[in-house]
Amino acid sequence: MLIKKRLFIGFMLVSLFSVVLLAMLGWYVVNNSEYASQILIGLLGSGFLVVVGLIAVGLAGMIFSLWREKAIPAVYRWTRMAINMLFPLALVNARIFGISPDRLRSSFIEVSNQLVITRHVKVAPGKVLVLVPHCLQRTACRHKITLDINNCTNCGRCPVTGLRKLADRYRVKMAVVSGGTLARKVVKESNAQAVVAVACERDLTSGIQDMAGVPVLGILNDRPEGPCCNTLVNMDRVERAIRYFLYRENSDQEFPGEKAFSRGRRLEVY
Ligand code: SF4
Repeated sequence: MLIKKRLFIGFMLVSLFSVVLLAMLGWYVVNNSEYASQILIGLLGSGFLVVVGLIAVGLAGMIFSLWREKAIPAVYRWTRMAINMLFPLALVNARIFGISPDRLRSSFIEVSNQLVITRHVKVAPGKVLVLVPHCLQRTACRHKITLDINNCTNCGRCPVTGLRKLADRYRVKMAVVSGGTLARKVVKESNAQAVVAVACERDLTSGIQDMAGVPVLGILNDRPEGPCCNTLVNMDRVERAIRYFLYRENSDQEFPGEKAFSRGRRLEVY
């Protein structure tokens, strides 16, 4: 099911509104206290207005960028700040409205992918990292692929075989990680300039937020046997995400399908 981007945008706006309402309430209470210092209230109020203003600029830039399918680098920093500050509150608000956190996270991943796509990022194959979770490996498999993916014997019993073939075909790097800490370490050590990340909603959301300086296209895994056990991934989505990032030297020609990808809307990358 296509998770609408507007779910995330809507809850971010609701959260901004909540913050402003709470601040107004706090201001009213403090201002009517006989012990309140007018100078302190003025300073706090001014600081709050600046922060809210920057968050609003970040959100407006994000919405405009999605709407016009155009990157606005000048507001990246404020968009990131808005997401980091308001997303926890958006999750709380979503719960109040009966929306599951994972549904909101899926919407965020879709928004994040679309924002990356608007940037038309192109990097050399060796700078693209495909980062996949340990739970894709068959639970019965005894090979330690988080230590070295070459320990996989390509038996074909789990998606790792197909992913390795994709990585070889496009000459991109690939790593299997067992958690967020290892994922951050691998990204840093590999000097990746672009990441195709496969994970569940929670891990993808935190990973995308952690890797603020590196463009990430996130792809949700499928969990037919429940969380963290023999999970699957749509290879076609992984391939399209890899192709999106690849850069062809001395060529204006785009990969087949890349134009459709960059227009984005019909392509489910998340
Ligand atoms: S493809 Fe086979 S050897 Fe490789 S990780 Fe999966 S189950 Fe293990």
